[in-house]
Amino acid sequence: MNLFAKPPLAVVIDLDDTLYPQSTYLYGASRAVGRAGAAAGLDQVRLSRAVRRQLVAGSDRGGTIDRALAAYGIGPDLAADLIPTLVAAFTTYRPRRLPSYPGARDALAAISARYPVACLTDGNPAIQRAKLAATGLADAFATIVITDELGGRTLRKPHPEGLRQVAETLGVPPSDLVVIGDRPGKDMAVAAALGARSIRVRTGEYADAPDEPPATACAPDLAAAATLLGA
Ligand SMILES: [Mg+2]
Repeated sequence: MNLFAKPPLAVVIDLDDTLYPQSTYLYGASRAVGRAGAAAGLDQVRLSRAVRRQLVAGSDRGGTIDRALAAYGIGPDLAADLIPTLVAAFTTYRPRRLPSYPGARDALAAISARYPVACLTDGNPAIQRAKLAATGLADAFATIVITDELGGRTLRKPHPEGLRQVAETLGVPPSDLVVIGDRPGKDMAVAAALGARSIRVRTGEYADAPDEPPATACAPDLAAAATLLGA
């Protein structure tokens, strides 16, 4: 059944916590920080755990390593020496494989058999590309737009520039797009900004966030979103 009386002309899908659980990547990155800390004489397991605890408290906050070192019990002077190396270990970590959500691969194949599909994601471009490659799903996308490549962090969702770029690349009016994503404040908001429709998936870190702004429709995961689209 197609929930949308008027089908979209193209579908835009978010990456983190929509195609795969971002927690898997963060777990690997926290282990990489632990290994770098061990090289500097810290306890690898304790440091990884301290980093992970900060990430679980909110992966979008910044200052993760600083807070993890403070929680580990390291004073500000030593922390200042360690932080550049540990931040580098975090940002240069590249996952080899990131398993996608159950059913996501088939859902993406079904959606892309029916509509042109774009990926729209925020973040460090090298990391975002590595994540997408590690899911093995990159080939399903007609275009991949990483907002940071368009002009830095200020153009991250819900700034409309990335979605506008997707629409232009696909040759489709923004109002004929459906955006699928996990974060109302980013994915639903960017859709609303350009008159596009949206499907919220309730997966990942933000699954319980308030419906603000509301999506056109909600689905438990990407597989269910594909069903809503009649794919
Ligand atoms: Mg996301």
